[in-house]
Amino acid sequence: LWRFWGPLSALSKVYSQVLSAMASAERIFEVLDSEPEVKDSKNAKEMKPIRGEVVFENVSFRYEENKPDVLKGINLRIKPGQRVALVGPTGAGKSTVVNLLMRFYDTTGGRILIDGQDVKDVTLESLRRQMGIVLQDSFIFSGTIEENLRYGNEDAPDEALRQAAESVRVDKIALQFPEGFQTQVEERGSKLSVGQRQLLAFGRVLLSDPRILILDEATSSVDTDTEQHIQAALQTMLEGRTAFIIAHRLSTIRDADVILVVKDGQIAEQGSHDELMKQSGLYHKLYMTQYEMQQSLAMQTGA
Ligand code: ADP
Repeated sequence: LWRFWGPLSALSKVYSQVLSAMASAERIFEVLDSEPEVKDSKNAKEMKPIRGEVVFENVSFRYEENKPDVLKGINLRIKPGQRVALVGPTGAGKSTVVNLLMRFYDTTGGRILIDGQDVKDVTLESLRRQMGIVLQDSFIFSGTIEENLRYGNEDAPDEALRQAAESVRVDKIALQFPEGFQTQVEERGSKLSVGQRQLLAFGRVLLSDPRILILDEATSSVDTDTEQHIQAALQTMLEGRTAFIIAHRLSTIRDADVILVVKDGQIAEQGSHDELMKQSGLYHKLYMTQYEMQQSLAMQTGA
């Protein structure tokens, strides 16, 4: 099995999981190949088990000295279990918000608290162990389906594995192949479709059972059937977890408890879909634009 961890073996398991996931995500978390800048503070403690409350207190951040702030005084208070959709133009700062939450970087001003614990005061390992992350291009490595599911959770009982796989239909996918869960898949191989890779990544999250989930919603198109499975699996995965979703689908955005409209490093608008539609501001405009795009696409494809 060590072959599969390869160059990552020097790092702790959770950390390497995050790094590898990051390595496959061009868009978010561009930290990836570089030396991590963030290290445990001298007196870092284990993060206590969390419920998933997230607070940003006047958080500001810049990637480079002498450059303007990328985030400018962000204040947020998210309750455990809430679904948060981040929307807004490219370059607004959405990915940066989640980069800071996972502490890939340290804030330049203000602080981030998870259940009252400052993310700078806890070990990176204990912080990230309680977070799950699913990126657009779901990270699959060369190994069996089972190994991919267990990644970061090698000791999970078989029964938990079975349940996680079943609730996102990965069991069905595995059983399409003669070797079932022992089927070998490749990092960039074609054995699994984009949608199936996504479901496999969901299964991995369910098995690790994190309280906070970070999701970069996939935009790649899959067939209608797979799409339905993904939507159902998504609901299962989100249930009872605080989720930060960089959202692309209108349905995901509409269903969010809190929509954060990020613009120029600030939260321009914050609220539920209904609240924000009533304001007739930026969200209203973004939503209508995307709605019309979806309608015209549906007309073209006859969907
Ligand atoms: P969004 O996710 O909303 O598209 P980002 O958070 O990725 O926006 O980017 C916010 C700003 O920070 C952009 O101006 C982007 O160019 C800049 N930025 C993002 N990542 C880095 C980085 N690793 N180094 C320097 N600047 C960055």
